[in-house]
Amino acid sequence: MSASPNPHAPIIVWFRQDLRLADNPALAHAVGSGRPVVPLYILDDQGAAPWAPGAASRWWLHHSLSSLGAALEGLGCPLVLRRGRSDVVLRDLVRELGAGAVAWNRCYEPQAIARDSALKADLKAGGVAVDSFNAALLAEPWTVKTGGGGSYKVFTPFWRAVKEGLTDGLNPGEPLPSPTALTALPTPPDGDRLAEWALLPTKPDWASGLRAAWTPGEGGAARRLAGFLDSAVGQYAEGRDYPAQPWTSRLSPHLHHGEISPRQIWAAAMAKGDGAPEGEGMDKGVAGFLRELGWREFCHHLLYHFPFLPERPLNPKFEAFAWHEDAKRLEAWQRGRTGYPIVDAGMRELWATGWMHNRVRMIVGSFLVKHLLLPWTAGQAWFWDTLVDADLANNAGGWQWIAGCGADAAPYFRVFNPVLQGEKFDAAGAYVRRWVPELAGLPDSVLHQPWTADAMTLRAAGVRLGHDYPHPVVDHKTARQRALDTFAAIKDDN
Ligand code: FAD
Repeated sequence: MSASPNPHAPIIVWFRQDLRLADNPALAHAVGSGRPVVPLYILDDQGAAPWAPGAASRWWLHHSLSSLGAALEGLGCPLVLRRGRSDVVLRDLVRELGAGAVAWNRCYEPQAIARDSALKADLKAGGVAVDSFNAALLAEPWTVKTGGGGSYKVFTPFWRAVKEGLTDGLNPGEPLPSPTALTALPTPPDGDRLAEWALLPTKPDWASGLRAAWTPGEGGAARRLAGFLDSAVGQYAEGRDYPAQPWTSRLSPHLHHGEISPRQIWAAAMAKGDGAPEGEGMDKGVAGFLRELGWREFCHHLLYHFPFLPERPLNPKFEAFAWHEDAKRLEAWQRGRTGYPIVDAGMRELWATGWMHNRVRMIVGSFLVKHLLLPWTAGQAWFWDTLVDADLANNAGGWQWIAGCGADAAPYFRVFNPVLQGEKFDAAGAYVRRWVPELAGLPDSVLHQPWTADAMTLRAAGVRLGHDYPHPVVDHKTARQRALDTFAAIKDDN
């Protein structure tokens, strides 16, 4: 790579999980450099690319790139799309353009860190200026340390430390505005057309539910945040556990793709909460919401410090756990055919919309690993393919937590009872009736356990168990005991 001291040589802004213009420090840096700007996105999904986006994420990515491309086009600076091994593609483009600088916002997946560190060293050695920025977290993982200088494994002290560490007590800084003008190269480099990447499903086109549920892109993210803060955050503290209610933000896919930053969310939420610190008058809903953003930070902290998080249990005792392999039961779970209505409703919501309410993620996760004794990695893989918010850190963190083998996890012996969970969090049955319509005619008293309904009730509701809706794949009490016995075996071994 040849050195390029020319201050007019272009700067490449490599977009990754930061598909937005506002509060984008790499882009702001490029604008400030005075160089012509070349915005670039690389699709690195071929060969053995680890954790390449799953099907639902690809759908999202298409629309998000389309939105970002239009916004950049509006500033006269088209987004260049290239495909291949990202380190190779980036080096090639630097060479092709004689670029003098590259800027990106940091990613925290282990493979991305390794790739980016090597690239940075290599490009710098070739005389190319490389600058990277934090655009995705309130506090980067290496900045949060225990008193002894180590990393946190328990959420509450971690979150306390993050909040204490943020400047001004609770202020991670003002978000940056969108650039109003960009200087492009007179002839922008060639790139692929987005449609050539075939990110959208065609045969069959299973994305109609996703289209109905979401508006990917920076504008959609901003509207989602504003709507949530206007009408739902007040209900969040008590309401966030009720899957039939619209009381959580649904910002997760926007956050994962970087269409909105946690700093923007923080600033808007604090403005809503009148800026009062937590515990000193901050609105309960706002505090609860920011705490969940804290879980996102925590999962990223864990992934950074324990890069094996998506593959191996954090608690090594669980390496010896006797998971079952049962393709039929896994499929029943994936398709929402377990015979437990709240579990099936969640899995069908996921299939239809690419998203599932957090309470229900916990219920279906617990059911998979405890009632069916199937490995948490199988659940993680299914979520990876079907979630529009599939995120390596949050997904692995969520699965390890629910399997009981992660940091600060739910204890293994706490086995969610899917009937009681349904009765508590979907008492009026609106969620189950929406996603499992074949049970809609059942009265509330048996909706969450249709196998207890008498023949007349089932007939009146038009339900034939075993035909219209399955019998339970396992009996709760038996499955619970089996899970506890399996757990006892690894407990006793250690
Ligand atoms: P809100 O309640 O409005 O929360 C605001 C934001 O905080 C979310 O958008 C999300 O970014 C973050 N957040 C909230 N809860 C959590 C949490 N428990 N852990 C980490 N971050 C959180 N979240 C993902 O973004 N991607 C995943 O792949 C993912 N997989 C999960 C798997 C399992 C088994 C479990 C139990 C949870 C998983 N979560 C995942 C966390 C959580 O379920 C979702 O972030 C949340 O449901 C998204 O909805 P929301 O945006 O309305 O959340």
